[in-house]
Amino acid sequence: MRKNVKKNIVGMLPEDLVPWLGREGEPSYRARQILRWVYEKRVSSFQDMSDIPLGLREKLSASFVLGTTRIAEVRTSSDGTKKFLLVFPQGDSVEVVAIPQRSWYTVCLSTQVGCPVRCPFCATGRAGFRRSLTADEIVEEAWRVSQSERERITHLVFMGMGEPLLNYEELARALRVFQSREGFGIGSRRITVSTVGVPEKMLQLARDWPEVNLALSLHAPSDDLRNFLVPLNRTYPLKEVLAALREYLHLTRRRVTIEYTLWQDFNDGKVHALQLSRLLRGLLVHVNLIPGNRIKGTPFVPSPPERAVAFAALLQKHGIPVTLRRSRGRDIQAACGELYRIHGLRGEVADDYCPEKRCNATGN
Ligand code: SAH
Ligand code: SF4
Repeated sequence: MRKNVKKNIVGMLPEDLVPWLGREGEPSYRARQILRWVYEKRVSSFQDMSDIPLGLREKLSASFVLGTTRIAEVRTSSDGTKKFLLVFPQGDSVEVVAIPQRSWYTVCLSTQVGCPVRCPFCATGRAGFRRSLTADEIVEEAWRVSQSERERITHLVFMGMGEPLLNYEELARALRVFQSREGFGIGSRRITVSTVGVPEKMLQLARDWPEVNLALSLHAPSDDLRNFLVPLNRTYPLKEVLAALREYLHLTRRRVTIEYTLWQDFNDGKVHALQLSRLLRGLLVHVNLIPGNRIKGTPFVPSPPERAVAFAALLQKHGIPVTLRRSRGRDIQAACGELYRIHGLRGEVADDYCPEKRCNATGN
């Protein structure tokens, strides 16, 4: 006989729970009540659901689990940013970053264990790719951190490990739970998805989730350079990515953030700034210049601050809105591109990376 595997209740919405309640002879209104305990109160045991009848609590424990992951390690930065190593039951793991900011609480989520895109300057990409996460696992990242920190999440950014648009179906299912009132209740405008550009999925996102913020990691203004810095460009060249961006803007009428990591002598020259401003002229975009975080064993050196400032000034001169970002969590390797620890796969992070970092929270 097949062993009865308990389902994870984290990741469910009322419509997922109602059929089970029906089979158990329970009224469907219990679904909302139960899920309030899951997402609002974030209890760790069904027994804590004090307004649920005891019999139903027991049936719940017999059929479901409340979360499947464990936090194996927490590192806290001097700026308050925290990095969690979250381990799944099968033993692999992802990193999740929590960024407290005055009245906001932003969590940076991973969508894959590793990343198949393999950008050479990114620790995650260098460490390799193991698998994509399921929607439940993506939801659980946020849930587990929120439970452990006793914090209500106000903003989400998909800027952790992995390329979200190469895992679109699961991402979309997770977004349903995040934005639903019966789930996390986080408004779509407080959620940002970052991608290197998968044209057809950018358009699907525009149609399915027009209010979710999009960040497009460009990093290079020509195909030659981008083929090297963002290898997915060989599949989806700049022309296709920019055509998708224009269509995205047409569909959503919402400003897109362009992410551009500055690497000395690779992509931070005057010529690059001019090329970039030509590519983006007339588009509803805002450029985030990210001083790179140095990854040990790579030839990528963060641009010195004066070059970054000059690059920003040139874009501005050509009418492109631009911000030079700072990043948080640098003393715990929780900054962009530094999420790398995968069970059995380890990248190496230099300890002398650039002091000027960006904050990766772009929600509003
Ligand atoms: N795969 C998606 C989302 C995750 S990466 C994407 O690339 O957009 C989130 C951001 O961190 C991206 O803009 C990425 O380019 C940036 N990043 C990666 N490695 C970095 C590094 N070493 N220093 C600074 N930013 C980096
Ligand atoms: Fe993947 Fe993004 Fe890292 Fe590139 S920068 S390897 S797409 S996580």
